[in-house]
Amino acid sequence: MMDSNFAALQQLHSSLRVAIYCRLSKDDNLDGESASIHNQRDMLETWCQEHGYTVAGVYADDGYSGLYMDRPDFQRMLADCKQGKIDIVVTKDMSRLTRNSTHSGQLRDEFFPKHHIRYIGVTDGVDTGKDDDLIAFRSVFNEIYSKDIGKKVHSSYVIKAKKGKFTGCIAPFGYMKSPEDKNFLIPDKDTAWIVQKIFGWAAEGHGTNWIRRRLEDEKIPAPCWWNRKKGLRNHVTKWEKEYGEKGIYMWDFSTIKQIIANPVYIGTIASQKANYRFKVGWLGDKKPEEWIQVENVHEPLVDIDTYNLVQEKVKMRKRPDAWGNYGIFAGLVKCGECGSTMNQRVANAKAKTRILTCAKYNKYGVAHCSQHRLELDTLYQIVLEQIRTCAALALADETKVMEELRKSCQCDSEEESRRMKAKLSESANRLSELDVLISKLYEDWVAGRINETNFTRMMEKAQGEQEALQKKADMMRECLDGAAREQEDNSKWLSLIRQYADIKELDREMLHLLIKEIVVHEDLSEGRRNTTVEIHFNFMKQGNRLTVKG
Ligand SMILES: [Zn+2]
Repeated sequence: MMDSNFAALQQLHSSLRVAIYCRLSKDDNLDGESASIHNQRDMLETWCQEHGYTVAGVYADDGYSGLYMDRPDFQRMLADCKQGKIDIVVTKDMSRLTRNSTHSGQLRDEFFPKHHIRYIGVTDGVDTGKDDDLIAFRSVFNEIYSKDIGKKVHSSYVIKAKKGKFTGCIAPFGYMKSPEDKNFLIPDKDTAWIVQKIFGWAAEGHGTNWIRRRLEDEKIPAPCWWNRKKGLRNHVTKWEKEYGEKGIYMWDFSTIKQIIANPVYIGTIASQKANYRFKVGWLGDKKPEEWIQVENVHEPLVDIDTYNLVQEKVKMRKRPDAWGNYGIFAGLVKCGECGSTMNQRVANAKAKTRILTCAKYNKYGVAHCSQHRLELDTLYQIVLEQIRTCAALALADETKVMEELRKSCQCDSEEESRRMKAKLSESANRLSELDVLISKLYEDWVAGRINETNFTRMMEKAQGEQEALQKKADMMRECLDGAAREQEDNSKWLSLIRQYADIKELDREMLHLLIKEIVVHEDLSEGRRNTTVEIHFNFMKQGNRLTVKG
């Protein structure tokens, strides 16, 4: 970052156009030699050279008084200023520019700022880019910076993205980089058919898990293996580490999911572009809808109808239970040991006992997790009971429940939050100080008032502090927000739960409204199964634990 800033600033420096103005008349009681037009010009040209500025023009009025404005070259210079040809006007001292204080005020306070021009008197140290007049210069500076430098630094990437050039390291699976143009994708005949197969299955309505098993059954190697074979990347998957030879046919769920969601397979190049602004060291990511997308760039592997159908199926896909209905608990129940979702299925075909079991156990077996078997009817009763109990409690003694809830909050104590607020405003002050400091540092560097070594050192220090402070402030703000939200959430929850004191049945909508998640723990020690169900209500930190008799 630092290096590119330096290059950028050097560029900025030389892009500033300086007007040198010299003047001499009989009424200037100056010792001849040093005040001559020739000497003034010499001195100012050297000064520009030292500071790396570009001399845009030399204007000299020999034999004209500084009391009046009607000097030919002076007027010519003002005209050039008005036309935006000049960024900085420099004279030996203020008196060369004018000896008339009214004119001097007009120039400094009106004319120069109006035309975004900085004026410097070299020997008397007048500099409108300093202190009070910073704003005028800063606006020029910022404009130049953001227009030219910001663009130059990042434009090549954006241009590539806008043209639909592929800028990634490795081509998406199924494609390869063209040997003629590494920013252009062509189908890889070794792997393109695999992508097409995956899309075909997905379009038939098969889920990721089914596709994964099918790929394994058909002994189709995962992308990792292909990348190794083609010498693109030397990476081994966790499956290969665990299962050796067999592992190369085991695909990650996420890989399959990414493939079927990637528009690259219909010929589109999507690039995520970050925002770059003139705020040193700052950049933020753009939202996906602001990504640069260019369609019909390369040969598609999948036709658009199939692709859209698959996206639709993915969106619609919620595992139906054995009766074709969506379980009312779908998406809410999690395994307490491995964190996987719990799948619903029929355990006993005759009795039609519906049970929930750990998805990881279902897929990978007992080496990965235990079954976590929980009958759906049991869960139903527990949840119903819990909701009714909570609702009754909330109705009976709201203050007490509210108090209990408050106790479980993190940022609870008033004092703590006051302390945090004070700290926060302190760091906000320091941050704006740092902003000013950083701008000044740039200006000092541009003006040659400090050398590169000092500039780098001071800038790094200031940026380091800025970053650390920002991070801390964000954390405190989050905590304060959290505390305020919790208070609000508590009362929301109370008014919500009160409505459910007399419910006899559960439905999906109600469950999702009231419950964040249900966690199922299983303890198999002592030779028997102990199942515990944890119900986490929405808006609440702590869950209620209930043990199910095994
Ligand atoms: Zn599990």
